[in-house]
Amino acid sequence: AGSAHFTSSWMRRFAEAAHDGQSLLTALDQQVGDGDFGVNLTAGVEAARPRLDRLPDQGSDPSAPLLATAEAFLDEVGGTSGPLFGLLLHSLATAIAEDGLTTAALADGFASGLAAIQRVGGARLGDKTLVDALAPATDVLRSTGPSTSAADALAAAAASAWDGVAATARLRARMGRSSYLGRRTEGIPDPGAVGVALLLSCAQAGKP
Ligand code: ADP
Ligand code: MG
Ligand code: MG
Repeated sequence: AGSAHFTSSWMRRFAEAAHDGQSLLTALDQQVGDGDFGVNLTAGVEAARPRLDRLPDQGSDPSAPLLATAEAFLDEVGGTSGPLFGLLLHSLATAIAEDGLTTAALADGFASGLAAIQRVGGARLGDKTLVDALAPATDVLRSTGPSTSAADALAAAAASAWDGVAATARLRARMGRSSYLGRRTEGIPDPGAVGVALLLSCAQAGKP
């Protein structure tokens, strides 16, 4: 199985994990937001599945499954998270289309995705958003040497993203809808950050 199989399996595992986690993610967004994150993320992955099915026989292009999933989120999902996940996956697809599925391309893709998300959404580290999972994961990818496999680099990035999720639980929201709830969001992890950590964890075979 080649690298196109890797990214296709990754996106399919993410679809399953988002689906399985829908009620947990809903419960989190009910406590720190407006309660629709589970539905929004599930809508994205459900829209992605038929697009993944239509890709030519896993082909040889590892960026295609990422682009198909990105376009599903960008075209079909509302809320704040739809476009943000779409941007991240689109940036990743672009970097991998140029360089192939290398650790350097993953680092470039996540870095440009993070930059795009911050340009659009204005969130900074510590604002209790998905940036708090994405930024430390990106740092790990950027500091990983080229001799590390893409799968191992993603595993290390996932671990760092979950640390970021734990950090969001200690923060009070300052961005987006959660900010209206202020203090009441302390102790609850940010659902979008959980979504990013799930995405990274799904790069490994087996469910997170
Ligand atoms: P909405 O807030 O529109 O209901 P979702 O529920 O789909 O959107 O997504 C909520 C998640 O989006 C939050 O948990 C947070 O991680 C992320 N988010 C919200 N605002 C921003 C922002 N400005 N920058 C980055 N991420 C954000
Ligand atoms: Mg919401
Ligand atoms: Mg909403």
